[in-house]
Amino acid sequence: MENKVSAPVDNNVFKKVVSHAKEYGFVFPSSEIYDGLQAVYDYGQNGVELKNNIKQAWYKAMTQLHDNIVGLDAAIFMHPLTWKASGHIDNFSDPMIDNKDSQKRYRADVLIEERAAEMEGKGLVEEAKVLVQKLARLLEAEDLKGVQELIINEKIVCPVSKTANWTEVRQFNLMFSTQVGSVAEDASTIYLRPETAQGIFVNFLNVQKTGRMKIPFGIAQIGKAFRNEIVARQFTFRMREFEQMEMQFFVRPGEEMKWYNSWKEARMKWHQAIGIPASKLKFHDHEKLAHYANAAVDIEFEFPFGFKEIEGIHSRTDFDLKSHQELSKKKQQYFDPEINQNYIPFVVETSVGADRSFLAVLCNAFTEETTGEGEDAKTRTYLKLHPALAPVKLAILPLMKKDGLAEKAREIYESLKFDFNVTYEEKDAIGKRYTRNDLIGTPFCVAVDHQTLEDNTVTIRHRDTMEQERVPIAALREKIGEAVSLKRILEKLM
Ligand code: ATP
Repeated sequence: MENKVSAPVDNNVFKKVVSHAKEYGFVFPSSEIYDGLQAVYDYGQNGVELKNNIKQAWYKAMTQLHDNIVGLDAAIFMHPLTWKASGHIDNFSDPMIDNKDSQKRYRADVLIEERAAEMEGKGLVEEAKVLVQKLARLLEAEDLKGVQELIINEKIVCPVSKTANWTEVRQFNLMFSTQVGSVAEDASTIYLRPETAQGIFVNFLNVQKTGRMKIPFGIAQIGKAFRNEIVARQFTFRMREFEQMEMQFFVRPGEEMKWYNSWKEARMKWHQAIGIPASKLKFHDHEKLAHYANAAVDIEFEFPFGFKEIEGIHSRTDFDLKSHQELSKKKQQYFDPEINQNYIPFVVETSVGADRSFLAVLCNAFTEETTGEGEDAKTRTYLKLHPALAPVKLAILPLMKKDGLAEKAREIYESLKFDFNVTYEEKDAIGKRYTRNDLIGTPFCVAVDHQTLEDNTVTIRHRDTMEQERVPIAALREKIGEAVSLKRILEKLM
């Protein structure tokens, strides 16, 4: 009797996911031949497909399913005053501290939070709470000396040097800057955008007027953002160059909470629609609100290293448009014909990291299944990706090259390549080819055998169950096409 277990074989899952991502062409360290660049990653041949499919699922869910949401692709570089208005020049910083012995840099708040987590782990729940509250008070009062004293009093040491030989705590702005212009004297400092949202705000009136948009309406955008994160860890969870999928929804002042609540639910639904089980997702309300928000919540996913944010939903009030109006001296108002009034709209933002969503999908899909027991035990590793997200939808595999099977298989490949991402493979035994496809999450493999030559049927092998069924070649386009269509995701959202 076979003994099936779908739980991970050990608790080192995250390490396994990271090496799987590298080994099977999903994610590579950037410029690896030079030993990589910290917190920067490249997406390989399978990673780019998976990421593009996630982005498509998001973009279509926003724009195609809502007749009042349109897209935008704003430039990464923006006028420097944008970042003054948004508050990033003055507020977008983290407190950092260096250990003089190891020369390692840390986020001062994270060192204290980690100490609190340690305390909690030892059952000192109350003490941990007091520590976190102390930290919050010091940060609120911008008392950096106090934060340093807290680190010293708590006897927190550097994990590398094991000493408490700390520098003072300094604020560190997370924006990358560069010079624009070819002549140094003429050059002026500009920033790589730390969020895509501002590209939407500065185009609010352009889109509203040219698209004759009526409030409420939204603008959705996918694009790169850059943050000089002090502590960049946990693979693609925290990168210095990453991609955001953001939607700003412009509403009538006073109606923002209604929209905030409805977007909260809609976004939770989306994560589930792309295949993440509800049990691995939760809301986390912000205790300390950002300078621009009157309500904020995170959607967290249960990574192997714990529940962590993948998306933020923020009620941003009229903060951004109002600041841009003040600094640019250009009115950012909307005339609402229904109530016969001019106003600066309020904004509800949904902001999800494409890379974090990708990582969540990958962690969730990574499956190790053991069959048999003792010496007969065999482990099958595969990616249980939603078929619409899988990099390759269908692999066409001739049982052998000879007897005209290769030609027949090629013929099928040629006829389906216009419909979805299909591959053709003839090298190695068919079992090995199934395994290779399991490892990259291909939902369907088609085997072409001698019977195919006689009756034009093939066997479809299903990734998750390994079940096989015989179907006519003529049925493949519709059968596979239906199963791998993004429609399967989108229809769960209505
Ligand atoms: P964190 O608290 O983890 O730094 P944040 O609250 O600063 O995140 P937001 O500014 O709300 O993040 O950005 C929205 C989304 O952008 C996040 O939910 C996350 O998915 C993504 N994101 C933010 N910073 C990074 C990063 N350094 N690397 C990858 N994704 C990121």
